[in-house]
Amino acid sequence: MATSIDLQGSRAVVTGAGKGIGREIALQLANAGSDIFAVSRTKKDLESLGIECSKIGVNYAYCVVELRDSDTAKQITRHAITTIGNIDILINNAGVSHGGSAITLTETDWDLTMDINAKGAFFLAQELGKIMLEHQYGRINNISSQAGLVALKDHMAYGSSKAALGMITKVLALEWGGNGITVNAIAPTVIRTPMGERGWSDPQLANEMREAIPIGRFGEPAEVASLVTFLASRQASLINGTVIPVDGGYTAR
Ligand code: NAP
Repeated sequence: MATSIDLQGSRAVVTGAGKGIGREIALQLANAGSDIFAVSRTKKDLESLGIECSKIGVNYAYCVVELRDSDTAKQITRHAITTIGNIDILINNAGVSHGGSAITLTETDWDLTMDINAKGAFFLAQELGKIMLEHQYGRINNISSQAGLVALKDHMAYGSSKAALGMITKVLALEWGGNGITVNAIAPTVIRTPMGERGWSDPQLANEMREAIPIGRFGEPAEVASLVTFLASRQASLINGTVIPVDGGYTAR
């Protein structure tokens, strides 16, 4: 029996929707019928995503913001509700990756990484969670990383921020699970996006990483987005408080 994911009537906020994984998530959610409120920093990326969403036939609105700014979560929430309506899906996807070993990492890069990858994601979930609690329904998916599950050299700030995001996911799942809201995280391996290409541009490092992934290759944005789309649906009602690797087996050993 064929089953398909139906998100007709849903309204999703997707952060970092301008490029890479976030853009693919927005398109897959739209293809499943969800209206989209896209958040990112570069206007032209969000305008071109809007053209794609219009072709699919869903409602679309966006805001250009720097997620690190204070009050951003309130601003996004207000804008999303007034443009597409009450939000029932949040995809906390925006993230930054700053390399640096434990000895070279600067306080500035530590703060920036934590602010966007962990703190920003939490406070947006807090604001949109209020709406979801009112309606006793919601789906929150946080994009973590394999680096939040196992230690990777030169990933001190990034790995710590993604591990924090995993715990934010679990605490929210405990607090809100009884109110029809599920909260999960997805932990990808290296994915071929602008961030993935930047972080693994050294051919030797890239080869070493590829060899450590049992399926022997990096992932594609669509392979992350398909799980996110399922988790955003009503069919995923029993999945709550998990951090699911989408990593070709990297964290299996
Ligand atoms: P990407 O190619 O760098 O795209 C990130 C998107 O987020 C861009 O549209 C970017 O906007 C936006 N963004 C970043 N920081 C922002 C901020 N402070 N405020 C507003 N928008 C912001 O990244 P990606 O590879 O698709 O990664 C998406 C998520 O997956 C991240 O959380 C990342 O940590 C996670 N992840 C990625 C990989 C990988 O290998 N690619 C692996 C595991 C996990 P601008 O381009 O305008 O700056």
